Amino acid sequence: MYDVVVFGSANLDLVATTGVMPRPGETVLGHSYAEYPGGKGLNQAIAAARSGASVAFFGAVGADQAGELLCATAQAAGVNTDGVTRSPTRATGRALITVAEGAENMIVAIPGANDEARMPSLPDASVVVAQLEVPMRSVIDLFSAARERGMTTILDPAPAVPLSKELLALCDLILPNEHEVSVIGGAEHLLDCGVGAVVVTRGAAGVSVYESGPDAPPIWEQPAFSVDPIDTTGAGDAFCGALAARLADGSDLRAAIRWAAAAGALATTKPGAVPSLPLSVDTGRLLGSQP
Ligand code: ADP
Repeated sequence: MYDVVVFGSANLDLVATTGVMPRPGETVLGHSYAEYPGGKGLNQAIAAARSGASVAFFGAVGADQAGELLCATAQAAGVNTDGVTRSPTRATGRALITVAEGAENMIVAIPGANDEARMPSLPDASVVVAQLEVPMRSVIDLFSAARERGMTTILDPAPAVPLSKELLALCDLILPNEHEVSVIGGAEHLLDCGVGAVVVTRGAAGVSVYESGPDAPPIWEQPAFSVDPIDTTGAGDAFCGALAARLADGSDLRAAIRWAAAAGALATTKPGAVPSLPLSVDTGRLLGSQP
């Protein structure tokens, strides 16, 4: 029995920094290059584990060194990776990221083995989390199995694409950011399609929550925690994983969202995704320090 099962992508992020972004056809000399573990699924699994949950991660990587590195990174954070399959034919997913001074960036993501991610069986868990960097059909099948077994389902609808009513009706919570919520049809539409609660993350403007049901307040807000952000990469994944961990331990939605907002804020105070995902002790300290 796990607190949280995460099904999603694992990528190696190849990050080049440069003074100016090259134009089409142009070559520029960059400043630095580094490789980091990434992918929304992997990040969210690690975020949930660092928030104290027992976590199993399901996804697919290639039979290559990058795949080994991603699994080892998850394991080092305490995440079970027995459900990660190794594709014999597709390479581990890559994201080619160019970051220009002024924090502008350009990303080309190559899904590779992520396109083969499947969930052959679902272990017992309280909460199941997925995003859309893996095949949509697999996410629908997973949420359908989770629903039948009374598990809470959380969808991070990224990358943003229009979603079927079949999938929406299986989501207890959906976590779009401001851009994604406009692509997938707005909070009211999502609630009409059967989503339990729509949690819109708005960066430094905090979180807006729309709940369904006759007794639910129409909308409520969780303000952002005050921090000095240096790199917002990973904030959304920190929020999602932390939220799943708190819901799995029985916290109510308001308490879980407050915790997740603190985790998201902390993730902006360190560079990169995985290194910036906060531990419970630090999230708890930030929560305690601000009303
Ligand atoms: P995404 O990375 O998916 O676009 P957001 O940027 O909305 O997600 O971040 C998720 C959550 O993390 C926000 O709702 C907020 O609670 C927290 N957060 C993000 N950026 C900041 C910030 N600059 N200051 C404080 N909290 C932040």
